[in-house]
Formats: sequence, C-alpha cells, structure tokens
Amino acid sequence: MSDHDEDDDAIEGQVRDEELDPEREARRRIALAQIRQYPDSALKMKAHHVVAFDDELQSLVERMKLLMRDANGIGLAATQVGVLRRLFVFQPSEDEVLAVVNPEIVELSEETDVADEGCLSIQGVTVPVERAVGVTLTGVDEHGGELRIELEGYAARCVQHETDHLDGILMLDRTTPEARKEALGVLRPRILLS
Ligand SMILES: [Zn+2]
Repeated sequence: MSDHDEDDDAIEGQVRDEELDPEREARRRIALAQIRQYPDSALKMKAHHVVAFDDELQSLVERMKLLMRDANGIGLAATQVGVLRRLFVFQPSEDEVLAVVNPEIVELSEETDVADEGCLSIQGVTVPVERAVGVTLTGVDEHGGELRIELEGYAARCVQHETDHLDGILMLDRTTPEARKEALGVLRPRILLS
C-alpha cells in the first residue's frame, strides 16, 4: 500500500491526530471526560480474565466502542474506563471495529520500529515507543467466538499498546528516560493544578 506511511503519520498509538469540526470536537471532549486520565490509579492496575459473556459485557463493549469513536481513538482498553477486565476495542482498518476479550499476543516479529504514540488517558503528549512491526493476536470476541488475527503497522502497534493497558503498563513506561522526563514535565504541573 503506497500511502501506508501517510496513514501511519496521522495515527499515534491509540490516538488519531486530526483537526475536527466544532461539533466533533465537543463530542471528543465529552468522551475524554469519561476516560480515566493519568495518573488515575486504575491505569496502573492489572485487569482480570473475563469469564462471563453476558449482557453486561455486551453493554460494556458497546459503550467502549462509542467512547473510542467519539474520543477519536483507534483503541481503548477496559482499564481506561475503570473496569479491570481483560478486553479492549480497536479499529484495525477504516471501517472495522473489533472487541478482543482475553487478548494474548502470541507472536511478535523480530523486526521493530520506533514511532510516536499518544494515549487517550495521557492527553497532550506523545512519546517514542519501540514496538514489534508485526504481531499475532488471539482472544475471543464479545460473544465468545475465537479470534486469531495477524496485524502489521499501526494496528500491530495499537494492540501492543492496548494489551499493555491491561497489564497496567503505560507508554510512559516504554519510552526513553529522556522522553519520559519531558512528558512528565508537561503532565505534572497540570496534575498539581487540577
Ligand atoms: Zn493508551
């Protein structure tokens, strides 16, 4: 795909970087207000294996899909909405949104690359993170149907970012000491003021 690099430029980790019209921007702000923000303690916690595929799980998945869309993200993990269960939603391509429950990354390519990532829970900063270029992801969908997906490029990066969220690991834990320091320099004053 010749325009692949251009597509990747607009997507940072789990965040789509683009200008929105005022109505979409208002929706984005409302959605972000419902997503836990750094340094919320839920973001540091490890999520639990999902055992019940009930109505409650379906509603959670629906809510997360809507929040991800409104927040202009391409991925959202349950810990980011304060639910300590192993599931995330993500957008592997323009017109596809998937929920992955009990995700496992079973294969990582040896080849890695470094790109700037953003996070719906850490607004206003991006940090460089080294990730595998390709992954194989297994899990189940929200109805319990088995999934095995091979991903490359931004989608591979996104599911590594989401899986980290379920283990309480943030992009700030994966970046260089210098970039972490710089990001915290932006985030800390904001935390003290709020
Ligand atoms: Zn994130």
